[in-house]
Amino acid sequence: MAGFNMSYLLLIVVTLAVGFGTQAYIKHTYRKWSKVPISSGLTGAQAARKMLDANGLSHVAIERVPGELTDHFNPQTNIVSLSEGVYGSTSVAATAIACHECGHAVQHARGFVPAKLRGALVPAVNIAGGAWMIVLIAGIFLSILGLIWLAIALYAATIIFQVVTLPVEFDASRRALAYVKGYGFLPATETGGARSVLTSAALTYVAAALVSVLQLIYLLGLTRR
Ligand SMILES: [Zn+2]
Repeated sequence: MAGFNMSYLLLIVVTLAVGFGTQAYIKHTYRKWSKVPISSGLTGAQAARKMLDANGLSHVAIERVPGELTDHFNPQTNIVSLSEGVYGSTSVAATAIACHECGHAVQHARGFVPAKLRGALVPAVNIAGGAWMIVLIAGIFLSILGLIWLAIALYAATIIFQVVTLPVEFDASRRALAYVKGYGFLPATETGGARSVLTSAALTYVAAALVSVLQLIYLLGLTRR
């Protein structure tokens, strides 16, 4: 029994370490390359506009949103939202992130299948993501094993979503790097910087999926108790 508890304690420690570690790593990489000016002299918003126009997406709008690393693309509104540190910044990190979000806009316009699949899963995942914990707590308090299994199934559905997210994110970064390289508006060192920013961002998605799998193992352990 003692060994059983120790292994779960270790699992929790590893889960927390992976989660916090990757968050710290992306912030570190982002802040480092936020201080390196880009030789093109373009702001994140200007780089985004250029990439969107080059892909025939002049109808996609760009807006500024508050917060750090809050950048995203909304396929419903066709708006690329760039955070304050990206929108007006002329850094390597700003160009990398702005072009990554444009990569999502290009995916949407071209009907990139993993992105479509991810979009289709959103409503179901929102329900599963909101319900699994309640079902789990109910299962534990009422001692109903069936409810615990239902919670695990709901939780597993959210992991499938996280796994589908990975190719979508990798592809958006690939499109961003191909664009900045192809148009030659970044010299080699800056392309390297853009790549590390995007790689660290991708790593947080991989880590999030890994953390979820570790939590799933923990939940499966509950059913044995
Ligand atoms: Zn993305």
